[in-house]
Amino acid sequence: MNKYISILFCGLFFLSSSLNAQEKEPSNYNYNDAFGHDFYSKNGSETRSASGKPGHAYWQNSADYVIDVNLNETTKEISGSEIITYTNNSPDALDFLWMQLDQNLFKLDSRGKAIVPLRGSRNGDKGQDFDGGYGINTITLIYKKGRRSTEVNTTYSIIDTRMKVNLPSALEANGGTVGIKIDFSFTSPDYGSDRMGVLETKNGRIFTLAQWYPRMSVYDDVSGWNTLPYLGAGEFYLEYGTFDVNITAPSNHLVVCSGALLNPSEVYTKEQQNRLKRAENSDETVMIRSEAEVTQPSSRPTSTPTLTWKFRIENSRDVAWASSAAFILDAARINLPSGKKSIAMSAYPVESVGQDAWSRSTEYTKASVEHYSKKWLEYPYPAAINVAGNEGGMEYPGIVFCNYESKTERLWGVTDHEFGHIWFPMIVGSNERLHAWMDEGFNTFINSLSTEAFNNGEYEEGKSNMHRMSGVFVNDRLEPIYTSPDNLKERNLGVLAYYKPSMGLVLLREQILGPERFDEALTAYINRWAYKHPTPDDFFRTIENVAGEDLRWFWRGWFINSWKLDQAITEVKYVNNDPTQGAIITIENLEKMPMPVVIELKTKSGKVTRKTLPVEIWKRNVTWTFKVDTTEALLKVVIDPDFALPDVDSSNNKWKASDGTGSVEILTGYLGVYSAPEFPMKITVSENSGTLVLEADGQPALPLESEGGGEFSMEEAGLSIQFNTEKTGFKLDIGGQVFDLTKE
Ligand SMILES: [Zn+2]
Repeated sequence: MNKYISILFCGLFFLSSSLNAQEKEPSNYNYNDAFGHDFYSKNGSETRSASGKPGHAYWQNSADYVIDVNLNETTKEISGSEIITYTNNSPDALDFLWMQLDQNLFKLDSRGKAIVPLRGSRNGDKGQDFDGGYGINTITLIYKKGRRSTEVNTTYSIIDTRMKVNLPSALEANGGTVGIKIDFSFTSPDYGSDRMGVLETKNGRIFTLAQWYPRMSVYDDVSGWNTLPYLGAGEFYLEYGTFDVNITAPSNHLVVCSGALLNPSEVYTKEQQNRLKRAENSDETVMIRSEAEVTQPSSRPTSTPTLTWKFRIENSRDVAWASSAAFILDAARINLPSGKKSIAMSAYPVESVGQDAWSRSTEYTKASVEHYSKKWLEYPYPAAINVAGNEGGMEYPGIVFCNYESKTERLWGVTDHEFGHIWFPMIVGSNERLHAWMDEGFNTFINSLSTEAFNNGEYEEGKSNMHRMSGVFVNDRLEPIYTSPDNLKERNLGVLAYYKPSMGLVLLREQILGPERFDEALTAYINRWAYKHPTPDDFFRTIENVAGEDLRWFWRGWFINSWKLDQAITEVKYVNNDPTQGAIITIENLEKMPMPVVIELKTKSGKVTRKTLPVEIWKRNVTWTFKVDTTEALLKVVIDPDFALPDVDSSNNKWKASDGTGSVEILTGYLGVYSAPEFPMKITVSENSGTLVLEADGQPALPLESEGGGEFSMEEAGLSIQFNTEKTGFKLDIGGQVFDLTKE
C-alpha cells in the first residue's frame, strides 16, 4: 500500500488545536515588524559584496594533506602520520594555528560527553565503555626556502577537540606557507556520533572512518579562527585542498576512499580490474566482487599480510574511507553534462544484498549524482561511493556511509540525501557548525526534486497539506531555524535543520518567486560560492539580487524568527447587495508572518475562478478589501485553496453562502462502494442523519460537509470529493493528490 495515502488517512484525527478556534481573535500582525528595513546588520565589504557575491578582495586559506595511515583490524586502532601544507591567503599574519581533533569527542572527559543527557543522544558514542581520542606526540613544522627545507619541533596545547599549534614566528600574510607534520593514532569507537564507526558482519568488521586525521580549523574574515568545539550535533567547517592518502589495511580487505584510486593494479585481481574497466563504460551496474566471491581468497591479489591503497582527491574539504573483508563491490558509469565521466560504486556486506536493498545502491547513486549535476552544478569528483555502515547516513566528499539495513525508498532517500550533500556543504562550503540549515535544509530541498525525477517517480511522495503541517513547522517548542545546532533541543534538529528550511525554499520557489526565478537564483548561489565559505547573508543577498525581489520579510518570518501565518476571510458582500455588480471581499492577516494570497471563488452555477494578490497588500494593511467581478451569487470563497501555505488555522479560510444555496442535497444517489485501480482501498459512501459519510477500509469514518453541486468535503483534513453528474463516480482529492473512483 502506498505509504503516503495511509498516512493521510491516519493523520486526520490529529489535527491542530486551531480547529476549535472559532472566535475571532485580534490580529497579531504588525506590518512594520514584518517589512521594516533593518534586516541586514552589516553592509557589503571587500570580502563579501552587498550583492551576495564573494567580494573583490575575498580570500580563503587552503590546506593540502599527505596522509599515511594503518588500520589494525583487531584493535580497531588507526595510526599514521600526516604532512599538512597550510597556506595563509589572509591579509593577516598568523601568530599561531588552530587545528581540529574531532576524535577527542570520544575521550571520557570531553565536553561533548559531558552534555549527553541521561536519556541518551545520537551524538557521542552511545555509552560504549572506552576512552577514545587522539594520541599525538611530536609536531614538527616544515619551512621551505627554495629547495632547502628546515624542520623544527614546536609546542602545542590541546583543549578538548581543539589544538593550538605555536609558531616560532608569525606565518606571513597573503600567501605564507608552513608544513605541519603530525604523528597520530586513535581507537575507533564502534558508534562514532552516527558519523563513523565499526559494524560487525558475518564476514568481518566494516570500518567506516571519518573525522580521523587532525585537520586545520578555518581562519576566515567572519570570526578569525573558528574554534567552536566538536560537541556532536554541530558538523564541520573545513578548508579546501588536495588530499593524498595511503591506507595500509589487511590484504583481505577492500578499501574505498574519497577520490581516485591510483594503484588499482596493486590492490585488485586481474579479473576485478577488467570488471572495473567494464563498469567505467556501463550504465548498468557491473559486479566487481560478488556475494559468492567475498569469502574466496582468490578474490584478493595477494596473500601478504597487508596492502597499501593509494587515493587522491582535489578541491576537497575532507576525506573519508572504509575498509572491510566483508565488502561486495559493484559499480557503474556516471555521465556528466560536460561529457566527463565519473563512477558510481557501492560497497556492502552480504547482509545487505537484495533488489529491495543494496543491490540497487549503485543505480541510486548514479541517478542522484547525474540529476544534481544536470540541475545545479557538475559533480567534481572521480568517484561516488556508497558504503553500507552502521551510521544512519553520513556524507563526505566522493563517499557516503548509509545504513546497511536500509531498503527500498528509505535506501533511495538516504543515498540521495547523502549525495545531495556533495552540493551542500562539500561544494558550497558553508559553516555547518553554526548554520546546519544551510547544508541540511538546502540539501533536503534539492532531494525533493531529485526524488520526483528518479525512475519516473518510483519513490515520489505527494504534496503535503501545509495547513496540517503548520503545527510541525511553527510551534512554541521550536527555536528559530537560524539557531546553531548546538544551541537547540536535539529533538528539534530534524525540523529546524532539514524540513523547515527546505519548506522555506519550496515556498519561495512555488508561492513567491516561481520555479524559474528561484532556480536561477539558487544556481547563482551555488556557482558563486562553490569551493568557498558563504554566510547566511551571502545566501539571502544572492537570492534577492538575482531574483530582483526584496525578501527580507520572508527571511525574517521563516528563518530568523519562528513566526506563524494565519490568513482569513472575514467578509463577503455584494456591490449594492447585487451579485451581478460584483463582490466585495475582505481578508485579514492574523499572525506575524505575511505571505502572498491565492483566493478561489465558486459561483452558484459551479464556475471556479482564482485571484492572486501580491504580498505587498500586507505592507501597510492588516486587513484588505478588494472587489471581484461576479455575474451571479457566490457559493464559496476559499483562501489558500491548495493548502500550500503553513496557515495555522484552516477554520477561517472559507466563506460559504449562508442562504443554503445548493447545499440541500438528496444523498441517496451517492451511496455505494467505490474503487479505483490505482487507489489501494475501497471507499464506502453512506448516510448518517442527513450527513454523507465516507469510510475507507480499516479507517475511521469521515463525516463530509456538502458544498453543493455534488461536492462534499472535510476541510480540516484537506479532503474533498466531487461526484460526476451521473453519480457513478467521484474525484477524490486528498491534499492535492487526486484519484478517480467509480461505483462498483
Ligand atoms: Zn544531511
